[in-house]
Amino acid sequence: MPGGFTHVFKRRGYEWDVGVHYIGDVHRPGTMLNKMFHYICDTPINWVDMGPVYDKMIFGDKVYDYRKGKQAWMDQMKEYFPEESEAIDKYMQLILDTQRDQRTFFMERALPGAVSAIIGNSLRKKALKRNTTTLEVLQEITSNKKLIAVLCGQFGDYGSPPAESSWLMHAMLFKHYINGGFYPEGGSSVIFDSIAPTVLNQGGQIFNNAEVDQIIIEKNKAVGVKMADGNEYRAPLVVSSAGVFNTYEKMLPKESVQKHKLENNLKKVRPSIGHVCLYVGFNKSEEELKMQKANYWIYPDNYDHDENITNYLKDPDSDIPVAYVSFPSAKDPDWKNRYPGKSAVDIITLADWSWYKEWDGTRWMKRGDDYKAAKEKLSQRLLEILFKYEPQLRDALDYYELGTPLSTKHFVNYSYGELYGLENTPDRFEQKFLRPKTPIKNLYLTGQDVVSCGVGGALASGLLTASAMTGKNLMKRL
Ligand SMILES: Cc1cc2nc3c(=O)[nH]c(=O)nc-3n(C[C@H](O)[C@H](O)[C@H](O)COP(=O)(O)OP(=O)(O)OC[C@H]3O[C@@H](n4cnc5c(N)ncnc54)[C@H](O)[C@@H]3O)c2cc1C
Repeated sequence: MPGGFTHVFKRRGYEWDVGVHYIGDVHRPGTMLNKMFHYICDTPINWVDMGPVYDKMIFGDKVYDYRKGKQAWMDQMKEYFPEESEAIDKYMQLILDTQRDQRTFFMERALPGAVSAIIGNSLRKKALKRNTTTLEVLQEITSNKKLIAVLCGQFGDYGSPPAESSWLMHAMLFKHYINGGFYPEGGSSVIFDSIAPTVLNQGGQIFNNAEVDQIIIEKNKAVGVKMADGNEYRAPLVVSSAGVFNTYEKMLPKESVQKHKLENNLKKVRPSIGHVCLYVGFNKSEEELKMQKANYWIYPDNYDHDENITNYLKDPDSDIPVAYVSFPSAKDPDWKNRYPGKSAVDIITLADWSWYKEWDGTRWMKRGDDYKAAKEKLSQRLLEILFKYEPQLRDALDYYELGTPLSTKHFVNYSYGELYGLENTPDRFEQKFLRPKTPIKNLYLTGQDVVSCGVGGALASGLLTASAMTGKNLMKRL
């Protein structure tokens, strides 16, 4: 599907987004993301504000609101944790410092190899000095376990718990949303719909349902792609946004991989964890059901994300470590024109590929009764979590369907059903090979593996790749 994870799907008179629930920093003229969208979209997207609270962190019966705006967020946190006022100030300062140091870090990725060899390390150095785990950084600020768990309440946005995630990723993500969450009016498919005319107007073409089988390499140069249907397209430059694992493991000829020792690079990074998403339809409007715009992050009440995930991965019947609930119909003012009298919810949790591996190779929608039974059991658990906090939804339940890591593989081609491409660990951010230019002439990488997961990260990668391809500093120009 063009648009990748920004696509939506429709079933039984409902529509769900699959990979966009909110975007930050996109509404204010002057932010990089706003400028990038403005530049690339033929028709501007209307970004709708989710309101004063964008995320709600729920631990048992206790709710912690993430309020938009630095000061409002800090004031609210200090109300919850008055004894941690100093730690909260330090936290915000560290986030801002880290963000500032990251600017040159990512710019370095667009530099040609020779220039990078001379000045690359100095551009990366400042950011990398804080490239430890999120937990390590937070433990320097506070020993309050509850505060740490609340500060890491958005960890599902990058997929790794505090003891495993890189602080660089955490800081980038937290800062991204601090001025609020925004949702594209008309649903996330408007992102592709707004960008497509720009591509077409420049003479580009877009193919649906078009699987690349191989990148054609001749004399160590990428010269085009061979499609699964046997067609070949020749081109002076080839750019892959299908992820480094797909590109290097599946699309390149073995000799090219060996010649450039690319498998050694892949050993230094890991695919991220997978996810399941329960897509739920209700036969009443969001107003009737009093749905919120803010996302819910529902956690067990022991305030230990790492322990909960470890337990869950060992025993999937143990407590669900995080249930993320998004209410797209409440966020989108155009929803009621498209789907009057109805509303939609997504409930997401993490899932290990190994749990679904036995059905790998079966056909979509025909994976067998045992697969259906496993999905039904998990669907009921997720629904009960939702109804605990929004009991008025129970009677309006009309339809639900669970997507698993196999669905991610089927629709977006991530081999292990990865939620976010590469795992966002400190090791990942050390890797210099995650850059647009590859060792193969005229072959470039782009997308979430080059900068970071998230629509903003993927878009920023696009800009870096375009800079690397043209040799122009497009970031500066923008
Ligand atoms: C459940 C979920 C929730 C998310 N929520 C948010 C959110 O609220 N906000 C946010 O900013 N981000 C969110 N994200 C992350 C965001 O959607 C992604 O990081 C981003 O869309 C990645 O963009 P990309 O272009 O790098 O890759 P993708 O969107 O994965 O696109 C890769 C494309 O490559 C194609 N492809 C793969 N193999 C081949 C092949 N052989 N031939 C041809 N094409 C191929 C795929 O079909 C796909 O179209 C979420 C992701 C998920 C999964």
